[in-house]
Amino acid sequence: MTRITRYFVVAATLIMAGAVLVSPAQASAEKAAAMVPKSVATANPLYKTRFGTVNCGAGAPRAGSLASYRTFLTKVNTCLATAWRKSFAQAGKKFRAPKMVLVNKRGNTSCGKFPSRFVGYYCYNSETLYIYMWNTPVRNGYGLWGAELLAHEYGHHIQGLAGIRAYSLQVPGHETSRRLELQAQCFSGAFLRSISGSVPGIAQNWAYELDWYKKNGGDQAGAPPDHGNGPNNSYWLNRGFRSASPGSCNTWIAPRSRVA
Ligand SMILES: [Zn+2]
Repeated sequence: MTRITRYFVVAATLIMAGAVLVSPAQASAEKAAAMVPKSVATANPLYKTRFGTVNCGAGAPRAGSLASYRTFLTKVNTCLATAWRKSFAQAGKKFRAPKMVLVNKRGNTSCGKFPSRFVGYYCYNSETLYIYMWNTPVRNGYGLWGAELLAHEYGHHIQGLAGIRAYSLQVPGHETSRRLELQAQCFSGAFLRSISGSVPGIAQNWAYELDWYKKNGGDQAGAPPDHGNGPNNSYWLNRGFRSASPGSCNTWIAPRSRVA
């Protein structure tokens, strides 16, 4: 596994992961639907489930190869379906995998234009994950960056299937957005732990990743406070990682300071 260069650290501060886009028409249509009880977010059956160990043959991307990075993320996507299918089965819920689109240019998507502020987002309308394969991690063969981003966006798909997002639409505001985003961070950490025994470069770079998030991640100055601060992003990512269980990701009952 290639050690990340200093350039990666500096450049990464300019880009944030994890937007969720939805058309206003869709949002109001969903709002008009029946009320979703708060317990769907605070006591979801998924919280009682565990990923355990997921054997994932994703390998590691070859430094400098976009094709190799694409193959790597495609395999990670399959492992995400394996992990979440397992979790949904334990909860007695029906699972369906999202579609995934990997791009190296942020153009048009099924939810409109890919926002320049983000490197990944999930389109609820079409249940599609959009991942921008940023050139710096591709050049360095740094798979954890893309795997974590993909697992985070996948987390939004899960929130959609589980009804958590439907609940969140009833409580508009930045704090709700942060609870959603930090939960997606935690889901990402939980999944990454489940594959860390079979995918090289996750365990080795985990401390670096946490430190990076703590110092540079989360809401940036001048942007809306909708993703949570750096230390909380690091905290929830690691909380998921320590447990390998979606159950550790209940941001909906966390104190305000943990979702700041
Ligand atoms: Zn997000």
